[in-house]
Amino acid sequence: MTKHVYTFGGGHAEGKADMRNLLGGKGANLAEMNLIGVPVPPGFTITTEVCTMYNEKGQSATFKTIKPEVEAAVAYVEKLTETKFGDKENPCLVSVRSGARASMPGMMDTVLNLGMNEGAVEAISKKSGNPRFAWDSYRRFIQMYGDVVMEMKPASKEEIDPFEEIIEDLKEEKGIHLDTEFTTDDLKELVNRFKSAVKKVTGKDFPTDPWEQLWGAVAAVFNSWNNPRANLYRRLEQIPDEWGTAVNVQAMVFGNMGTNSGTGVAFTRDAATGEDIFNGEYLINAQGEDVVAGIRTPQQITLEGSRRWAELQGISEEKRASKYPSLEEAMPEMYRQLNDTQQKLEDHYSDMQDLEFTIQEGKLWLLQTRNGKRTGAAMVKIAVDMLEEGRINEKTALNRIDAAKLDELLHPVFEKDAMKSAVVLTQGLPASPGAATGQVVFFADEASKYPESILVRVETSPEDLEGMHIAKGILTARGGMTSHAAVVARGMGKCCVSGAGMVRINYKTRVMTIEGKEFREGDWISLNGSTGEVYEGKVATVNPDLSGDFGKVMDWASKFSRMSVRTNADTPHDAKIARDFGAQGIGLCRTEHMFFEGERIMAMREMILAKTEDARRKALDKLLPYQRDDFEGILKAMEGYGVTIRLLDPPLHEFVPHEEANQKEMADEMGISVEEVKALVHDLHEFNPMLGHRGCRLGNSYPEITEMQARAIIEAAVNLKQKGIDAKPEIMVPLIGTVKELKLQADIIHATAKMVFEEKGTTVDYLVGTMIEVPRAALTADKVAEVADFFSFGTNDLTQMTFGYSRDDAGKFLPVYIEKGILKNDPFQVLDQEGIGQLVSMGVEKGRSVKPELKVGICGEHGGEPSSVKFCDSIGMNYVSCSPFRVPIARIAAAQANLK
Ligand code: PEP
Ligand code: MG
Repeated sequence: MTKHVYTFGGGHAEGKADMRNLLGGKGANLAEMNLIGVPVPPGFTITTEVCTMYNEKGQSATFKTIKPEVEAAVAYVEKLTETKFGDKENPCLVSVRSGARASMPGMMDTVLNLGMNEGAVEAISKKSGNPRFAWDSYRRFIQMYGDVVMEMKPASKEEIDPFEEIIEDLKEEKGIHLDTEFTTDDLKELVNRFKSAVKKVTGKDFPTDPWEQLWGAVAAVFNSWNNPRANLYRRLEQIPDEWGTAVNVQAMVFGNMGTNSGTGVAFTRDAATGEDIFNGEYLINAQGEDVVAGIRTPQQITLEGSRRWAELQGISEEKRASKYPSLEEAMPEMYRQLNDTQQKLEDHYSDMQDLEFTIQEGKLWLLQTRNGKRTGAAMVKIAVDMLEEGRINEKTALNRIDAAKLDELLHPVFEKDAMKSAVVLTQGLPASPGAATGQVVFFADEASKYPESILVRVETSPEDLEGMHIAKGILTARGGMTSHAAVVARGMGKCCVSGAGMVRINYKTRVMTIEGKEFREGDWISLNGSTGEVYEGKVATVNPDLSGDFGKVMDWASKFSRMSVRTNADTPHDAKIARDFGAQGIGLCRTEHMFFEGERIMAMREMILAKTEDARRKALDKLLPYQRDDFEGILKAMEGYGVTIRLLDPPLHEFVPHEEANQKEMADEMGISVEEVKALVHDLHEFNPMLGHRGCRLGNSYPEITEMQARAIIEAAVNLKQKGIDAKPEIMVPLIGTVKELKLQADIIHATAKMVFEEKGTTVDYLVGTMIEVPRAALTADKVAEVADFFSFGTNDLTQMTFGYSRDDAGKFLPVYIEKGILKNDPFQVLDQEGIGQLVSMGVEKGRSVKPELKVGICGEHGGEPSSVKFCDSIGMNYVSCSPFRVPIARIAAAQANLK
């Protein structure tokens, strides 16, 4: 019989760490912590399979199936805690939380203090001797349950939570400002008003039976798997919808039972920098969500961390020690136990842990441990340090690198000189590193109003996720290093400054005030997420330093990969950046980009508008020296490595002027009338240029273009050879669909090369290959390979032509397709392995069936996307090629692919 419920507690557990697919990350680790002797409140986990059943078979069939197991598990918890559901003297109170396989912080729902009712609240009052605490727990429970299970949470940003409204009203009536000023009677009054609100809004009484409460909460957690923000998070993080969430039901422990209680979150190493420093935040006399909600200012766990924090905040040592003492100072024994536990957990998991703990009346409980989310910089440092500490081996260290996250390390930081004149407005906490500059927006759903925006909020909530993703950076007025904004921004690799207390925000007038200075929506500001500083206006940025640990990680990549990584680069400058990142050659040099500068564009237009072959040749003769110089530069920058140079590809109309003024300029330049220019431009018009006169269709209709380009390439290589430079040109013919298209072009190239060699009295090695980017080329790749020295898959066009989606217009419908689940990803970013992948692997197989040693690579955008790179490895490609800044990402992905 399938087991649906796994219990844990008192040093025993039915599950363990490697069962995370079934128990979710949280459930598996709660079990494991019991097994290694870490104190965890007893409880049980309802498996992720039950969530799938719930989504397929519905609530009643599912609950009927699991009821006996849930009842037995509750009995187990009751026994260990010596309490009972609904008992008048020792009521059992539990928390109900989600827990998916992959962590989805704050995305799904949680209910705390479940089991509370009129009887239980009296019993807890008596037992704790603290009626205020008991009633506060009760009102929190109604509020959470009302919002989450009874769906009273406001649907739009303008509405305010009905319970918060009641709290605010009562504060006003009582003339108080803080929640902590409520008396026990006030809290009783809140409970009454909350219950009336529930009845009024939902038409139902607030449930008093703990069993009814429990099933309601379990259903709410399962339902929350499909709430919009969880769906969005899964899409961003590429978590499959089918995984489902587990539900963890656990005996409550209370951090709000007085001054010898507290709650907090901690990291075994620094999640921002990766330094081996235990750190975290806590609050005395508070319950779970208070620390991350950003409502109170959390205190630091260690003394060292507390001093650092105070310095950043400009708080004196005296004030710090009296008002914001560290846990190390305030509760030394608890700190000692927590420190031992964090060490034990890191030793056990051999990875940086993110912990949640509660201290209830002087007893420490761990509520969660998981591998901590971290910035790209911390990811690299922790992997390198743990390898050097002998905790993990090289392969494990390499697998700990999330290739896509390296991106953060490659991004610009503020320019030193620009920093000198930058005006610091204020300082908050360095919540997520990097530099960002943009225009102020105050609402997450308005983040796309400007191409570069900074989202400014009092604090963020999971509803703001999409806007946070779009914004260049995030600034919050409240909240610590573990606030929602900070945690989410780090996960996204987005620059964030949190808890900038001097920032005042008026959402109504859309004005932010910092020490008297006003900033309106649309004004520019800049953020330094590594120091917490906020600057006025735009501050210039520079590229980061990539030596040290980053270099070590890149060495692992070289050691373990089979494929090489090339770059797509059109200039010596880009080629140099890519080489510094470890690119081994150029996989795509788009020659057309060289035609736009200065006088070249005039010669190019002359060529295009020429009416006779003679006139065209004259114009091409002008272009030849420019092209030769360009190729010399790029071949030299990649000395010793193959450089794939593609012949002219885009439709010719892209090079001619479409505006009247430019047409006039051109007419003057060429000594013809504007009308003639207009007529020529009109002739070049195509209804569907992407499927029109472009690619090798140009070289086949105007062979002299191919002749000129081939000559420029070969002459460049010969010139370099004569200077002792090892140039390795590979000439690539674009957009072929039949072998004949390639054959005719190859013949021209070989004939031209022969001529140049004779003229120069020397030769160089060169290759002639083709792009496979038209489906027919992939289908007939065996024939194509008879002529080609190499294949390079142009998966941008291959995706366009196979799906029939225009590359330029797909933005209009792809977001809808992804939203509706028609497509999992944007196929122009992530290679569609199921469809396009078949053409690619067929192309490789057919090509190698006639030329076993055929060199094959990819140069579409997918060449820098980790899952696509892994696919390319699996079908035996020789290399992938991508833009310079993605080279390190592709190198890691290539190495990881080869480890499997
Ligand atoms: C491609 O089609 O994948 C390709 C690399 O060529 P371009 O993007 O220049 O069309
Ligand atoms: Mg193409």
